[in-house]
Amino acid sequence: MAKHEHVRVAVIGSGFGGLGAAVRLRREGITDFVVLERADSVGGTWRDNSYPGCACDVPSHLYSFSFAPNPDWPRTFSGQRHIRAYLEHVTDTFGIRPHLRLGHEVRKMTWDSEALRWEIETGQGSFSADVVVSATGPLSDPKIPDIEGLAEFPGKVFHSARWDHDYDLTGKRVAMIGTGASAIQIVPAIQPRVGKLTLFQRTPPWVMRRMDRAISGPERWLHRALPVTGTLRRGLLWGIRELQVGAFTKHPNELGLVEKLAKANIAKSIKDPVLRAKLTPSYRIGCKRILLSSTYYPAVAQPNVDVVAAGLREVRGSTLVAADGTETEVDAIIFGTGFHVTDMPIAERVVGAEGKTLAETWKGGMEALRGATAAGFPNFMTVIGPNTGLGNSSMILMIESQLNYMADYLRQLDVLGGRAALAVRPSAVGAWNRKVQARMERTVWKAGGCESWYLDSNGRNTTLWPGTTGEFRRETRQVDLSEYEVVRAPKPVKPAAAKTRAATRKQEAAQ
Ligand code: NAP
Repeated sequence: MAKHEHVRVAVIGSGFGGLGAAVRLRREGITDFVVLERADSVGGTWRDNSYPGCACDVPSHLYSFSFAPNPDWPRTFSGQRHIRAYLEHVTDTFGIRPHLRLGHEVRKMTWDSEALRWEIETGQGSFSADVVVSATGPLSDPKIPDIEGLAEFPGKVFHSARWDHDYDLTGKRVAMIGTGASAIQIVPAIQPRVGKLTLFQRTPPWVMRRMDRAISGPERWLHRALPVTGTLRRGLLWGIRELQVGAFTKHPNELGLVEKLAKANIAKSIKDPVLRAKLTPSYRIGCKRILLSSTYYPAVAQPNVDVVAAGLREVRGSTLVAADGTETEVDAIIFGTGFHVTDMPIAERVVGAEGKTLAETWKGGMEALRGATAAGFPNFMTVIGPNTGLGNSSMILMIESQLNYMADYLRQLDVLGGRAALAVRPSAVGAWNRKVQARMERTVWKAGGCESWYLDSNGRNTTLWPGTTGEFRRETRQVDLSEYEVVRAPKPVKPAAAKTRAATRKQEAAQ
């Protein structure tokens, strides 16, 4: 017989968001929950992205949970292996393992308006939950562009987030498609061993030096012996980034100075003026994510690297044709083409109170109150939901703010007592969203003259938060009940009446 389990809370995903939610639930004294994870281990994006050179471009002492400081970060910008190990460590330290349901991909989730709970179908049995916390993350489903002829390519093809470690790139002719945050880490890592590397660059990124260094033994000792020093270090990293926010959100012209530094960085490594021109962006720095690397330009300047300043348009056999007509023959194609961010596949699997999927509800653009709750989806919240992303600081700060909101949401449900749900009022979502979008107009992401994955197909920025992390923390401290409608369960149905109702429904269905 198929398994069924009822829990108070079902968390979906076990990356930073899902694990953070799990720890927070336990710290709130809630143990009746599961974490549904489609893969066979925790880690989210830090499990899936194992490409050579993968590291975080936010300093580790800030890119970690405030409740789980790590005095032993090996580098200022630690690599994927260490971040993944940190998440495994958090899982063990906070007793999350018993709650994990690995290999449980959520196939469908439906709100039951009578029982006031979510019915969840997974690849391994079904669950029901009073509340769902969706922490599937915006960078979890790889995007490969629809390129004519790609299916017939005779060589190797893979995405940066699904690296094939069994494929040996040594001496091969390799095409790297895209020049985003992933690609600029991959290029310097593989350039020394490939035969020829052709970089398909549709839009050049702004790349600044990354001040990465090993964290010394005495520093680590100090953080272990005197934890307050780790806290101070984190506070300093946070404060500097908070001060930068105004330039991104209100005064993009102030970023001109940063642009000069970035141009100097190009000039330092790229002596060939033609290549330098190809690599120099024509939009305001910050409009797309500012990338950090001290090894990217030196690698691009190597004789075995070619930059095609155009997107990949077509594949003919083993020949790649760029939008400018350039033809290149290769053995392998690596797509560093990003993720389904504004069209997350999970949204198609969530069916709300009116029978509509989240994807249908969001077809005009994603929107949720305080990045968390969407109209028509009671007792459902997203971690790293709409307009919670950052251009310059640590997402862990935003995640922890959302977890404060989640904790208060659950407290409010407790206070209401009985069988109740909170359904966000469409007017509250609308008012929040109008405020966010009005502020967006002045930001560099909108006014900086570029196209980016921050914008959806309607040109609206539904991904980033146009303020400081401190401001978001204040906005998510508590649930304001006036923004919600309290939904009570219909009166308990007597068994006999229930039978009659079920029979009527059956009859109606048969007609
Ligand atoms: P991305 O930033 O979305 O970059 C995708 C790249 O693919 C862009 O350069 C895009 O060009 C290009 N592209 C798309 N279709 C193409 C085509 N047909 N031909 C040529 N190029 C094409 O993806 P990502 O690099 O994987 O990064 C996604 C996000 O992950 C980042 O913004 C960041 O938030 C996160 N990330 C973080 C780190 C970190 O260190 N913390 C590291 C990696 C990733 P256009 O620019 O013209 O669109």
